[in-house]
Amino acid sequence: MTDTDCIFCKIVAGDIPSTKVLETDRVLAFRDLHPKAPTHVLVIPKEHYRDTAALAAADPELAGAVLHAAAEVAAAEGVAEDGWRLLANTGANGGQEVFHVHFHVFGGKPLGRMLS
Ligand code: IMP
Repeated sequence: MTDTDCIFCKIVAGDIPSTKVLETDRVLAFRDLHPKAPTHVLVIPKEHYRDTAALAAADPELAGAVLHAAAEVAAAEGVAEDGWRLLANTGANGGQEVFHVHFHVFGGKPLGRMLS
């Protein structure tokens, strides 16, 4: 399942270059083009789902595989011990700009508290 207008589907297909950090048969992780932290990696299912809700509803096993990959990325980036953040902007009010579900892995510096 792909969307021909989706930039992340094009990254999966190799039509847009990316710096890959992890790849499995169903999941891809690559560096964000505009990093907001020393580690800033995007983890996506290769199949196109528009957001977290669509992915969780359609394929909970794949959602789990994406989360598992995010933890593997954190470990591989060397940020697991000091801590890291997993973020999935969802929908317009959530600040989502690319409508192919993705999880941001941030780490490598103190990230502060989002909620207080
Ligand atoms: P969102 O606001 O959660 O949808 O974040 C989308 C993210 O995708 C942003 O952090 C962008 O910097 C990132 N991004 C957009 N295009 C590319 C690309 O071609 N390669 C890597 N990251 C990208």
